[in-house]
Amino acid sequence: MSNEKIPYKIYLSEDELPKQWYNVRADMKKKPAPLLNPATLKPVTPEELSAVFCDELVKQELDETTPYIDIPEEILGFYKMYRPSPLVRAYCLEKALGTPAKIYYKFEGNNTSGSHKLNSAIAQAYYAKKQGLTGVTTETGAGQWGTALSMACSYFDLDCKVYMVKVSYEQKPFRREVMRTYGASVTPSPSMTTEVGRKILEEFPDTNGSLGCAISEAVEAATSNDGYRYVLGSVLSQVLLHQTVIGLETKTAMDKYGIKPDIIIGCAGGGSNLGGLIAPFMGEKLRGEADYRIIAVEPASCPSLTRGVYAYDFCDTGKVCPLQKMYTLGSGFMPSANHAGGLRYHGMSAILSELYDQKLMEAVSVEQTAVFEAAQKFARVEGILPAPESSHAIKTAIDEALKCKETGEEKTILFGLTGTGYFDMYAYAAYNDGKMGDYIPSDEELKKATDKLPHID
Ligand SMILES: *Cc1c(COP(=O)(O)O)cnc(C)c1O
Repeated sequence: MSNEKIPYKIYLSEDELPKQWYNVRADMKKKPAPLLNPATLKPVTPEELSAVFCDELVKQELDETTPYIDIPEEILGFYKMYRPSPLVRAYCLEKALGTPAKIYYKFEGNNTSGSHKLNSAIAQAYYAKKQGLTGVTTETGAGQWGTALSMACSYFDLDCKVYMVKVSYEQKPFRREVMRTYGASVTPSPSMTTEVGRKILEEFPDTNGSLGCAISEAVEAATSNDGYRYVLGSVLSQVLLHQTVIGLETKTAMDKYGIKPDIIIGCAGGGSNLGGLIAPFMGEKLRGEADYRIIAVEPASCPSLTRGVYAYDFCDTGKVCPLQKMYTLGSGFMPSANHAGGLRYHGMSAILSELYDQKLMEAVSVEQTAVFEAAQKFARVEGILPAPESSHAIKTAIDEALKCKETGEEKTILFGLTGTGYFDMYAYAAYNDGKMGDYIPSDEELKKATDKLPHID
């Protein structure tokens, strides 16, 4: 089909919203390794998991065989407030780059939380409510997940306790206030409200906190309060499942116009948006129906896929969560202090780790000043102020488009624009003031953290 016929924005109708999530594990011949109980090192049982997670989510987490799972009506009703999200043809960016490539992005920033995280938050809150729980606990780093969850919990009238990494709590007061406006309680982590928090504070009184530590606190708060469960915004297979609405909508929109992407690009923190975007395309690849180049983009300062090891590791600092086999930098790894671009989790989704290990997916790492340069270029021509996380994907999409300019190839590039960057203006300020630096950890530094990995085969 010719370029002229493809609109700047491809919108689907409400009726075209996916009615089912797609479970890519069903099509994987070799499945991700099972989660292990940290105490026994045996595969976790549903009973053990249900002390921490909601029953229905435990079922989804452990389900490797059901390809399609119905999206309940109540969740679809909420999705309709902000979905389907637009698939945008980046005509303006293509022109600015002078590339023959056709660039598309799926924009997930069109909701108050400002990112794709709401797609899973609403599902997790729904299942918690359905189980008759009082509330949920969680951690948040930059704040997008906490914001999304607080919106979802207020919709279903659930209590929401958020442990927010201390440095973000202090540096992102507006995120905190959005969460409180939706009724969540927000505690800077590490805190004195949990045993694990008190222990960490005793050992490191001046710590800025970390995601791994906030996770441990949130899990403890869930298991020590009746009627509470813990919910997580990325990494887990259930979260990737919910995020497949992104990819399913994209596939429907592209099929409508006969568009087939050659390259699919997404930023990768814990892997949920990328896993969701690529799911139906990866399904075709796994079933041998089509082929796509799929690229995960991560920060050079937190390079779990490109420089990590594929091994069982703890998902949190306090070592209370199940162990997961994944590409990891070690649960003790902390990105350098000048790291500003998000995507700072030490590990990667088990599904994506396994797909990457099977070479069904590639990964690249990019430095943060280049990421912000790409963000600025994109904002100036496409109008949207992108989240730093999303800008990792923008950077690689631009790189691929510029390669097409050299070779004259008219490739179709699709990337996930996961969110907006309005709460990241300190990072943008650092970039605008020329004060942003790059940091690439040395092999010795990485080895320090991976040396401490638990030894499990
Ligand atoms: C959380 C977040 C990410 C990274 O998380 P994934 O689970 O890897 O998708 C990317 N972009 C935005 C805007 C986010 O909020």
